Amino acid sequence: MIPLVEESKDLFENTGVYESCYFGCGRTTKFWHWRTNQPICKECAKTHKVSEVKKSHPKYKPKTKKEYMSV
Ligand SMILES: [Zn+2]
Repeated sequence: MIPLVEESKDLFENTGVYESCYFGCGRTTKFWHWRTNQPICKECAKTHKVSEVKKSHPKYKPKTKKEYMSV
């Protein structure tokens, strides 16, 4: 189970697109894993582990959840 956060409504309205799921299942999603900054759909989140998700950028530094929520 991968914990997901939902794309904020404001951000979604700005970008207007769902991202394709990281696991290539063909679904698009407005949920993502904040620690790796990867979009992941809810179905794949159930069957995959965090250890399977690579960071979107090697130097990507995850924010703490608190920092993320305050943005
Ligand atoms: Zn998926």
